[in-house]
Amino acid sequence: MLPFLAHGHLIPFLALARQIHQATGFKISIASTPLNIQYLSSTFNSSSDEPENDHIHLLELPFCSTDNDLPPNTENSENLSLDSIGKLLSASLSLRKPFHSLVSDIAAKQGHPPLCIISDVFLGWATEVASSLGTVNVTFATSGAYGTLASSSLWLNLPHRGRSDSDEFHLPGFPDSCRFHINQLHHFLRNADGTDSWSKFFQSQFSLSMQSFGWLCNTAEEFEPAGLEWLRNFLKLPVWAIGPLLPPIVLKNDYSSLSVAASGISTRRAGKKLEISIEKCMEWLESHSPASVLYISFGSQNRTSPSQMMELAIGLEESAKPFIWVIRPPVGFEPKSEFRAEYLPEGFEERMEKRKQGLLVRNWAPQLEILSHKSTGAFLSHCGWNSVLESLSQAVPIIGWPLAAEQAYNSKMLVEEMGVSVELTRGVQSSIDSKEVKRVIGLVMAKKGKGGDLRSKAMVIKEQLRASVRDEGEDKGSSVKALDDLIKTLQSKGQTINSIS
Ligand code: UDP
Repeated sequence: MLPFLAHGHLIPFLALARQIHQATGFKISIASTPLNIQYLSSTFNSSSDEPENDHIHLLELPFCSTDNDLPPNTENSENLSLDSIGKLLSASLSLRKPFHSLVSDIAAKQGHPPLCIISDVFLGWATEVASSLGTVNVTFATSGAYGTLASSSLWLNLPHRGRSDSDEFHLPGFPDSCRFHINQLHHFLRNADGTDSWSKFFQSQFSLSMQSFGWLCNTAEEFEPAGLEWLRNFLKLPVWAIGPLLPPIVLKNDYSSLSVAASGISTRRAGKKLEISIEKCMEWLESHSPASVLYISFGSQNRTSPSQMMELAIGLEESAKPFIWVIRPPVGFEPKSEFRAEYLPEGFEERMEKRKQGLLVRNWAPQLEILSHKSTGAFLSHCGWNSVLESLSQAVPIIGWPLAAEQAYNSKMLVEEMGVSVELTRGVQSSIDSKEVKRVIGLVMAKKGKGGDLRSKAMVIKEQLRASVRDEGEDKGSSVKALDDLIKTLQSKGQTINSIS
C-alpha cells in the first residue's frame, strides 16, 4: 500500500490494511516516508493479542525532496502551509524510484510480485510501477464518491476557466441539474489554467490513476448511490465501495459511549497526545442533556482566520448553547505555538468555564468519543471526509464550514443530496458575522423544525452506514461484500498473471 503523505490519507489506508488482513490473513506492507512510518507505528495497538506488526509491515521510503524551499523534516502536510503543500505534492514524485526498488526487492525475495499495489489517487505513478513489475494496481480514493468525482473532474476538465466570480457551471460527470459555483473551489484550483504546477500535478496523477485496474472509495453503496453511479460512469472502471473505514467499536449497534471512551480510539488512531483527558471530556458531556452540545473542530490541520475565530466565539457565546471547541492559533500564527487568550474575546474562556457553557480543548480532542456521546447534538465541521463519516455514523448532523481540499464538495453533497447539514460559510477568507453563527447554531440545534429534520435524516444514514459493514454469517453488508469481491477478483487476476509469466 502506498498512501499519500497526509494524516487524513494515512488513517483510512491503515484501516483498510487491517480490514483486508482480517478478511484474508494476507500480509500487507505499507510504504511511506520516515515520519509517516513513525506516526503509523504509534497508532498500533501494542496490547492486542496478535501484534499488528506481525501482519502489517511498515516499510520506509527515503524522503528526498529536490525542492530546496520545502521546510526540513516536513514529510506530512499536517505541518505545512498551503504553499508548502504544493511543494510536498511535487516532492511526492521523488518516491517513485525508491518505491520501485522496494517492490522489486519484495518480488525477488518472495519469488513473485505482490498480489496488488493499492496506491493513493494522488500517487498515480504507482500504476506504471505496478505494470512494470507485473502486478495489478488499484487506486484508493480515501474520500467519498461525490467528492472524489468532483476533484477528479475539476482538475481534468477545468470547466471554470475564464468564468467570473458570480458564475455557476456544469461539471462533467454530474447531472445537468447539479451546478457548481466558482466560490466552492479552493483558490489554487480557482486560479488553475492547466499550465500551473498544481494543474500539472493533479492532471497527470488523476490521469495515471484512471489507468489502474479499479478504484476503492471510503463510502458505502446505500449511503452514496448517486455519487457512486456517477463516478463509475466517469471513470469507466470498477469502483468498490468499502467504507466507512471506522473502528468497528463505533459502528456496533450495541454501542455505548462509555465503551468507546474507555478504548481511547481517537488518540490511538491518531497517534496524538491529548492536552485534556478523555475522562474530563466525558464528565463534561455527562453534565449536559442529550443532544444539547455542539462539537467544533476543523480536522487535523485546518484553521480559521483571526477575525473568523473572534466572530465564531462571539456567536457561540450569544447562542447560549453548550459547546466543545478544538482551538488552535488562527491562520497567520505558528500552528504549534501556544494558544493566546487574545485570539478570543476578553475573558471568554473563563466565562465559558464558569457558566459551564463551553469547553475549549487545545489542539486535539478525542473526536470519536465526543461524537459518540449522547449529549453531542451537532458538529460544526470543516467537512473532511473522516469527520463526515464519524459524525453521520453517530447520527450527528453537521454545520459545514469547508476550508480546503475536497471539503466544499463534501459540504455541497451533505446539504443538497443528503439534507444532513447547513453550510455556515466556506473558506478562510469569508467574512463571517457572529449573528449568522448564532442563527445557524440555533437552527441546527433546535429539536424541532430544521434541526429535527436534519437529525432524523442523519439517523437514517447512521443505520445505512452500520448496515453496510455488517458481517454476521451470510448476512453481509454491501461494503463487506465489496471487499470480498475485490479480493476474489484480485486473486483470479493474480492467478492469470502468474500462469502467463
Ligand atoms: N481528529 C481528532 N481530534 C481532533 C481533530 C481531528 O481525533 O481534535 C481526527 C478526526 O477524528 C478524524 C481526523 O482527525 O479522524 C481528521 O480527518 P478529516 O478527514 O476529517 O480531516 P483532515 O484532517 O484530513 O482535514
